[in-house]
Amino acid sequence: MSPTMHNAAYAALAMDRVYLAFRVTPENLRAALRSIPALGIVGVNLTVPHKEAAARVIKTLSAEAKLLRAVNCVINDRGKLRGDNTDAHGLERDLRALGVDLRSRLAIVIGAGGAAAAAILACARVGAARIVVANRTRSRAISLARRFHSPHSSRRIELAARGLEALTDATLLAEAALVLNATSMGLTTGSFAPLDYAATSPNCFFYDAIYRADATPFLREAIALNRPHADGAGMLINQGELAFELFNGVAPPPGVMGQVLLERLCRT
Ligand code: NAP
Repeated sequence: MSPTMHNAAYAALAMDRVYLAFRVTPENLRAALRSIPALGIVGVNLTVPHKEAAARVIKTLSAEAKLLRAVNCVINDRGKLRGDNTDAHGLERDLRALGVDLRSRLAIVIGAGGAAAAAILACARVGAARIVVANRTRSRAISLARRFHSPHSSRRIELAARGLEALTDATLLAEAALVLNATSMGLTTGSFAPLDYAATSPNCFFYDAIYRADATPFLREAIALNRPHADGAGMLINQGELAFELFNGVAPPPGVMGQVLLERLCRT
């Protein structure tokens, strides 16, 4: 969806630029990054599975990319590459726009990859007092929770790591203000892990970083129970708008990137 969004903004600004998708294998990542200055490309976005590898390859990283240990934007700064990451700010903006109030509350983040790191940072910035990271591989949840123990905030945030059994812990779920899926479960599969949706409070917000035209497997039962919910379309729009500004030095016209994405998802 990113080419559609960025090209709509270029057209609206009458800028003679184009955003293209390239399929790059992990073994070609270094060569692909090296070609950016040679080809005069102003910037690139990176997606799964390149974000963490790129953070190890690119020497100049923004504070945000260092914190997330992942790069989703590479900017060609007069021949020198700079890595940045707009995922956490993109999600934070979406949570605020959706009115998700986490002040002094518990957020459950499912996953331990790059999207989960961005989710922890976004939840901390939106004011969460407690964050439980639940992941299939518990050791990865433990190292992620350790890394964000003090997420650059003067506020103390309690971080705990669990396996996916946390999703059937009724006591924990009853306290949650937000349950956020930051795994790829449901992206290509038709089902999600067992989760005790009914144990959550009626105003617990369900957020899926995955987006698609119909309801994601993670959101289906939340919708059936009438829980407030959203998928990752808003996060995608926001991170894309922030990336556009990093690449082009000018903000996209308000609403243009979002409108074209929502049209593609048949939501308008
Ligand atoms: P990643 O680094 O590859 O992490 C994948 C995560 O999913 C890991 O925690 C992994 O658990 C878990 N997982 C994968 N398959 C599983 C399964 N069958 N059962 C249980 N857990 C499973 O990926 P990522 O970059 O964090 O991205 C995660 C998701 O977020 C993707 O679907 C991506 O599309 C989405 N995303 C959306 C946006 C947006 O703008 N909306 C931005 C970024 C990412 P293990 O650790 O146990 O392997």
